[in-house]
Amino acid sequence: MQAQQALQTIVIVGGGTAGWMTAAAFSRVLPQGHRVRLVESDAISTIGVGEATIPSIRAFNQLVDLDEDEFMRQTQATFKLGIEFVNWGKQGDSYIHGFGLIGRDQILAKFYQYWLKMYQLGEAPDLEHFSINTVAPRHHKFMRPPKDMPNSPLADISYAFHFDAGLYAKYLRGKAEKQGVQRTEGKIVDVVVRDADGFIESLVMENGERIEGDLFIDCSGLAGLLIEKTLNTGYEDWSHWLPADSAIAVPCASAGPLLPYTRSTSHTAGWQWRIPLQHRTGNGHVFSSKFMSADEAQAILMKNLDGEALAEPRHIRFTTGKRKKAWNKNCIAIGLAGGFMEPLESTSIHMVQTAIMRVISLFPDRGFNQVDIDTYNAQNDEEYQRIRDFLIMHYKLNEREGSAFWSYCKNMEVPIDVQERIDLYRSHGRIFRIGEELFADASWLQVMHGQGLRAESYHPLVDQRSKEDIAYFLDQVQKTIRKCVDVMPTHEEFIAATCKAM
Ligand SMILES: Cc1cc2nc3c(=O)[nH]c(=O)nc-3n(C[C@H](O)[C@H](O)[C@H](O)COP(=O)(O)OP(=O)(O)OC[C@H]3O[C@@H](n4cnc5c(N)ncnc54)[C@H](O)[C@@H]3O)c2cc1C
Repeated sequence: MQAQQALQTIVIVGGGTAGWMTAAAFSRVLPQGHRVRLVESDAISTIGVGEATIPSIRAFNQLVDLDEDEFMRQTQATFKLGIEFVNWGKQGDSYIHGFGLIGRDQILAKFYQYWLKMYQLGEAPDLEHFSINTVAPRHHKFMRPPKDMPNSPLADISYAFHFDAGLYAKYLRGKAEKQGVQRTEGKIVDVVVRDADGFIESLVMENGERIEGDLFIDCSGLAGLLIEKTLNTGYEDWSHWLPADSAIAVPCASAGPLLPYTRSTSHTAGWQWRIPLQHRTGNGHVFSSKFMSADEAQAILMKNLDGEALAEPRHIRFTTGKRKKAWNKNCIAIGLAGGFMEPLESTSIHMVQTAIMRVISLFPDRGFNQVDIDTYNAQNDEEYQRIRDFLIMHYKLNEREGSAFWSYCKNMEVPIDVQERIDLYRSHGRIFRIGEELFADASWLQVMHGQGLRAESYHPLVDQRSKEDIAYFLDQVQKTIRKCVDVMPTHEEFIAATCKAM
């Protein structure tokens, strides 16, 4: 057996959400003997957006041992049950993509197959009535799933958070530093690579200091300081499928009830997010510069704020896609340094988290085995592609009229897997999750149906039950969910009682 040479120093470059999430996780799970350092520059600001999450964030928060109420207070967080899509099908349409389950699956067929039959007959209301995660948000209700009611729809409540990105990074920094992470503030002006194999050897700081390491985690944001500017890894551009390349972000004062969901409203060349926090509302307009000028996009954003703007609007440019290799030599890119897909389904922070878990599961020694690196990259690519396809589905199925941008999206050729999913759903409403992809069939269903795609038939085995029996079953599910929502507190009441920021 070959003796292993353990890594000693891990250097994280960047102190945004990705950098501090990585530092907090590594310092919590890596055994003693590993030194974790983080380098960030106060002169280079973080991206400052990224405030909506999906339920997997709760597993990360548990991993780094955050108390949930304390975390909510520290980050001015609110709860999130899903995303409302406004004007994404036809103008005036609205649907919610809720986290969690829809109805009660049966042995022979999924719940939605029974619903599809009755819906096609015109004898069932819309899908949204059959999930607690879509009914509760329409009434601005929220509670955590109770542990002692396993058979109630309340137990199915699946939630994530909206939080202030700057406060989250600061909170994680506090944790990470207590766990021994050494932070260095300053600008990296050069990166030294070894002649022999091109591995990164050290960072050179503006003040001349050299920071050496065995493994470098590039969390330097869109710049990709190590993975691209140093190692020239290359980038796969997906903007022909996801043509938005710009965003303008601006916070505004809170107005109206505190909604337990993100809202995404489509505009003529993109869409606008609305993320409610305890102390303010985050807003942004994601658009394609090929179809709209930045001035026009900003005017649309400012016109559609529901409170007074609290800062100057910030402009961000990006190219949708990913690095050809997330792990190259002794450098692993996490966060925006590794790639970016627009925040339509709030997936980026989740991908930071899965990248961290993947590094832990394939944690190298100083030999840097190539098969580990290749496995990491293959898993990373698969994850990116599946999420990309889910995002493309939203655009491809739009039914908007009179906009060159939406017309381009409707008519674009999509990856074969996306077309197959559309065809499969259209024939008998069938949906299959591919491998370990993030989004389950309930998600694909809500988006495909919400965007206006209609199944022409349903699973034949559904006919084994009488129409009356199915109608009764659907009615019971719907009524039980409604009764549960009636007794839930409002989102605002729940926060006031458990985790209101001071
Ligand atoms: C418009 C937009 C909206 C988004 N919305 C969401 C969302 O709702 N949900 C979601 O999950 N994700 C969202 N994201 C993604 C999310 O913002 C990022 O994944 C997350 O913030 C992580 O960013 P980061 O840490 O990789 O990079 P950054 O926040 O950009 O951090 C980069 C760090 O690198 C440091 N750095 C860079 N160069 C140097 C240097 N030379 N020397 C020293 N330090 C350096 C900087 O100081 C900084 O600390 C959004 C992204 C965009 C662009």
